[in-house]
Amino acid sequence: VTDPAEARAAELCDAALAGDRLALARLLTAVENRTPVAEAALRRLYPLAGRAHLVGITGPPGSGKSTLVASLIAEVRRVDRSVGVIAVDPSSPITGGALLGDRVRMQVHAQDRDVFIRSMAARGHSGGLAASSAAAATVMDAVGFELILLETVGTGQSEVEVAASADTTVVLEAPEMGDEIQAIKAGLLEVADIVVVNKGDRPGAQRTAAQLRAMLTGSAKEPQVLVTTALSGEGVRELLAAIDRCRAAAGGAGDLGARLARAEAQVWAVLDERVRARLHTDRQVAATRATLESVAAHELDPFTAADRLLARVERRAGGGD
Ligand code: GDP
Repeated sequence: VTDPAEARAAELCDAALAGDRLALARLLTAVENRTPVAEAALRRLYPLAGRAHLVGITGPPGSGKSTLVASLIAEVRRVDRSVGVIAVDPSSPITGGALLGDRVRMQVHAQDRDVFIRSMAARGHSGGLAASSAAAATVMDAVGFELILLETVGTGQSEVEVAASADTTVVLEAPEMGDEIQAIKAGLLEVADIVVVNKGDRPGAQRTAAQLRAMLTGSAKEPQVLVTTALSGEGVRELLAAIDRCRAAAGGAGDLGARLARAEAQVWAVLDERVRARLHTDRQVAATRATLESVAAHELDPFTAADRLLARVERRAGGGD
């Protein structure tokens, strides 16, 4: 191997696959910065991924996402499963490591090899964020994490995209919203597989849950509505069971629509840098669709897929096809 990026990627991948967490962290930094090492690494790791259950957790600031993720980690470890967490903050300029909350969370699990928590800051446009978080999930998936929690901060469009690209999407709410319940972003509720009313110890939690159930009856997904108290861990076992049921309902392979969305985000992020506009109208062309499906099935990595789509466009531009 002569290419230095390829050599470095091979070294980091081998180490990460052997369980080296520092190598894993370095790979994730490369993915976040979208370096040539990341591309070479993802070409290697992508075929090894596709087994993990990717769970998006989103909701307004203060609803208790960080607290709930911490208690979910505790529950997952109680049943002796491994868990990776990617905390995505589209508004944060901080990068290359852990945000404050994650440092605190990480200390508890510092000695635990079956927990890995990583923050990712925003890079470029929202589609780029969905692509980067999907790529980070691929890396964690390839090294063997079974459950990957994708926690997004805020309720903007990019969070909806990231949340929707998970196999299972959990949307959090806090009680006492009362009449303001309609203020919850409709787009967010549309992507929810599970709606969680957190702060179950507060008055009005059950009433909020009942209102949400009434509101969501007859909606496309009819998400389950659960009440948790993230601070005490109450309801968290039930939440994990509901998450597992979503996985089982999707045939154990993850939601096909979500897989395609992730495939498309990743392939498009590569093409973005190369030929975006030329391919834009090609999404529904059968050959393009087939290529994206191969990526979704982890038969083809996003970079090779992008190369193929690009070659097809260029052949056509050259007068072929
Ligand atoms: P995030 O912004 O959605 O990540 O929310 P945090 O996890 O940071 O929680 C926001 C605040 O709500 C913190 O002060 C938490 O301690 C508190 N909180 C989280 N879960 C609960 C809960 O179940 N009950 C109560 N009473 N407070 C909670």
